[in-house]
This record gives sequence, structure tokens and C-alpha cells, in this order.
Amino acid sequence: MIDTAGRVIVHDSVDGTRAVREQAAAGYDFIKVYNNVPAAAYRGIVAEAERLGIPVAGHIPFEVGLDGALAAGQTSIEHLRGYVWHLVPEDAPNQPGADLRSRTLAWAHGDLSRIQALAERTRDAGVWSVPTLSVRMIMKPDRLVEAYLATEEASHMTEGMRAFYTERMSIPWISNFGPADFEAAMDGFAVADSLIRALVGVGAPVLAGTDTPPLGFALHRELEELVGAGLSPFEALQSATVLPARFLGRGGGAGMVAEGSPADLVLLEGDPLAAIANTRRIAGVVRRGDWLDRATLDAMLEEAGR
Ligand SMILES: [Zn+2]
Repeated sequence: MIDTAGRVIVHDSVDGTRAVREQAAAGYDFIKVYNNVPAAAYRGIVAEAERLGIPVAGHIPFEVGLDGALAAGQTSIEHLRGYVWHLVPEDAPNQPGADLRSRTLAWAHGDLSRIQALAERTRDAGVWSVPTLSVRMIMKPDRLVEAYLATEEASHMTEGMRAFYTERMSIPWISNFGPADFEAAMDGFAVADSLIRALVGVGAPVLAGTDTPPLGFALHRELEELVGAGLSPFEALQSATVLPARFLGRGGGAGMVAEGSPADLVLLEGDPLAAIANTRRIAGVVRRGDWLDRATLDAMLEEAGR
């Protein structure tokens, strides 16, 4: 259920250097690093990526840790899970380990007094954060997953996407969760929400990313999750408009509504600053200057759903 196309295994600095060169030559825009990238390979990746000017985004590799990722100036950190090792006291009953369950449950024991300094260090390192809160759904209690699967958004998922939720216990990295763990995970999410608020509070940029289907629709859910985490609707909108434009180095008014900006706009039937869910009430879209009304968008959705 996970697309592994483009994934490369690296063991050492030479591997890391070579992999970056190959991926850059293949035309990729980013190098994404995962949990198990060895520290030596990470050093090779970061050095070569800097030389070629290709950003390194991704997880905080276990061997590298948050300190190493911040020191390396990793362009962005996805999911924010790697912060847990800095937040959980040594005597907490749940300690983070290599598996997702232990790390998810450990968050609930996070020491809130440590969050502000971590947020400031992230800002000072110039590292961007992509919390991908939508991904939490796979770790939520059955009742919330079932409620989600009944939403209009979920109606746009393929059978395969639905199976990701309905058959989640067969996914290796979820299979050791029990029903009580899915409930306990919610307490940890609340601690992670504190970190996200602190990042935005100190001016460390946070981006809306989904990493979960149905793509496009899930972005609206991400905005709702960010507001649920305590961001204002305005801050959530920035995470999906002006900040990504800045992250991608797009000038010329990209990501904002101003004279001279690219003619890429969405017209809503409600004020998203009053209720962020209004971003789903799309009356029409201007794409590269072309107006697509609701009927046209519905026809495109119908076509895409076949
Ligand atoms: Zn990831």
C-alpha cells in the first residue's frame, strides 16, 4: 500500500553521495530521507545535496536525531515525530523506540516546558516544518476512523485507499497497536499540537502537507487539523499559500492575491477566516487565467472518479 518507487537504500557516505547525484540527474526536486538512513549516509547526502543545490526534506533519521538534522540545516522536517526524543523524560512509562507505536504513545509524556526552546532552535536553524496531521487518521480510534470514512471527502477514495483504513491492522507498522493505544495516541497528538503552536508562535514556518489520500481533498482536512491544533484560520491558510510559495522559491506574487500575482485562485462560497471548512465550498477555480466554474469542476471530478 506504500509506493516505494524511487526509493534507494543507502549504507554509507559514498552511497549517499551517489544516490543524491542520481536522483538529481533523474530530475527529482527533493531528496527525502527516512527513519533508517545511517548517519554516515546522511552526511554524504547533505553534503552532495548542498553542492548540487537540491533540498533535503524528510524524517529525522534515528541515527541523526533532531540535533543532527538542525545542524545539517535539513530543508524541512516532515511529520515532526523526531522531536519526541527531546520531549519525553527518562522516567516516563512509555519511551520512544524504533516502532511507530512506542513513539506515538511516548508523546503523551512529553514535557511541555521543553517545547518553547525546541521551537526557537528550529526557527534559528532555518528549518521548515510539515506536521502532516492528516496522517494521524491511521492511528485514531475506530469510532473516528469510521466517522471519517462516512464523510464526503472519503467518498473520493479508491477501494485501495479505503482498505488502508479498513484493513489497517495488516499494515506492518500499525499491526502492534491495540484499541487502547489508538485512544492513548490522542493524548500524544495534543502534546504535538503544542509544538506546532510554538513553532508558529516563534516564527518557524509550518507548511500544510497531507501525505495521505485522497490527495487534494486531504489538504482541506489538513487545514482543519491545523486549526484544530490551535492555529488561526489565517495562519492555516498561510501554510498552504504564501509560505509554500516562499519555500519553493517562487517570487512574483505567488501564493498571495495581489496585482501581478499568477492567476491561480479559488473562489469560495464562504469566508475561510470565519470557518476554515469553508475552503471546501468551492464556487470556481481560476487556473493559469482560465475560469473553471462549479459545473466544470464537477465534470472533471466525475471523469477522474471513473
Ligand atoms: Zn514520511
